[in-house]
Amino acid sequence: MATEYTKPLPRPLSPELTRPFWEAAKRHELRMPRCTTCDYVFFYPRSECPRCLSTNLEWVKVSGRARLHSFTVVQQPANAAFRDDVPYVYAVVQLDEGPRLVSNIVQGDIDALRVDMPLEAVFDDVTPEWTLVKFKPA
Ligand SMILES: [Zn+2]
Repeated sequence: MATEYTKPLPRPLSPELTRPFWEAAKRHELRMPRCTTCDYVFFYPRSECPRCLSTNLEWVKVSGRARLHSFTVVQQPANAAFRDDVPYVYAVVQLDEGPRLVSNIVQGDIDALRVDMPLEAVFDDVTPEWTLVKFKPA
């Protein structure tokens, strides 16, 4: 039986803009907005392309493959709810398709983490409503 999840959960500021991301995550898919005018894949979700300002956008499934762009090992969490998780890895991950996102690196040896190492997405079903996208060494 799963224990109750007691940590803060994401609360999107623009639920209508980000809903496809969260719904895909629940299906264990990673989806990103793509501009159909200039082919740019970007993140975070916006109502227009950050490169050409087109509003012709679609959501595309991406590979989930990424590289570790930057990271830190958190020893003292800013929010007490994460106290039992330390040490954990707070990372900026760059997807093979281009976008960068903030996430956690899970599984694997923290001491073996290196910038530019290959990663792959994993999906953490923290509640029936919320699935968080995290990454593990590939
Ligand atoms: Zn564009």
